[in-house]
Amino acid sequence: MVCGGLPAVFLLFLQRFVLIHGSTLIREDTPGSEMSVMEFGYDPNSIKGPRYWNMKWPSCGFSRQSPIDINTTYVTYGRPYEIRYNQENQDLPGNLINNGHTTAFYFEEKARYLYGVPGSPKDKFLLNELHFHFGNDRIHGSEHSINGQFFPIEVHMVHYNSKYRQPRIASMMPDGIIAVSVFLRIRSGPPNHVDTFIKTNIPRVKDPKGKAVKADLNPSLLLPFKRDFYTYRGSVSVPPCKNNIRWIIMKETRDISIFAYRAFLTLKTKEGEIISKYGNFRPIQDSSCNRLVEANFMY
Ligand SMILES: [Zn+2]
Repeated sequence: MVCGGLPAVFLLFLQRFVLIHGSTLIREDTPGSEMSVMEFGYDPNSIKGPRYWNMKWPSCGFSRQSPIDINTTYVTYGRPYEIRYNQENQDLPGNLINNGHTTAFYFEEKARYLYGVPGSPKDKFLLNELHFHFGNDRIHGSEHSINGQFFPIEVHMVHYNSKYRQPRIASMMPDGIIAVSVFLRIRSGPPNHVDTFIKTNIPRVKDPKGKAVKADLNPSLLLPFKRDFYTYRGSVSVPPCKNNIRWIIMKETRDISIFAYRAFLTLKTKEGEIISKYGNFRPIQDSSCNRLVEANFMY
């Protein structure tokens, strides 16, 4: 079957070839002991880079990985899914951190929940944290793409199934984790609530060795007004790349100001490098023509 221009069998062969070739390079050039202590990174030419994640975390080399390019030609349209949140008007307290790969906001009380989720319509998914993926230019920072188009920033809101009580336990279950993804564009104009949150707090976690910053955020202000989305089953996009996530990718985007965007460019890794130098987006792993991707709207 031809998909996106190249036969899937050829792509599989190519991937295998790269993995085998990659493992040979690593064994020849670096002592094996380094692999056991290394952190992951995004420099494409480094042994820590995404191409080699599968050497330490084998599941990063499995099928059904994320992110994917959503080729809208292959999407199944018009599924009757409608997701909702409770208490959408309220700010929630939490702690903003820099983990050396991104900045993440962990909600103190798991009070915001999502329901009506595809595949688990009766379950409640509690919002645990949200974090950001970005690059060093305004063209590519998102992990997912739509018909090959990337966006400057992608927000991931990570929820866990309340029936498992703890995110750690839920992360081991096939119906445990939902990630809602929103693409952010950059616009001119006066700052809104989200811009103020970013500009005020992100510079305070520039260095990952610093303390967490307490703040309040209404996560619904990061969601588009129209809740049309694409959904598919994939993986976490960072090691160990577990294959048990339901992704909900919002079709509409939100905007942030250029001043807020620049705050992301100041964040540093644990080694003191600027995160945006290589970005913190994993390369596309697959196309939606190989996966079941559904949309809750008509094309
Ligand atoms: Zn993410």
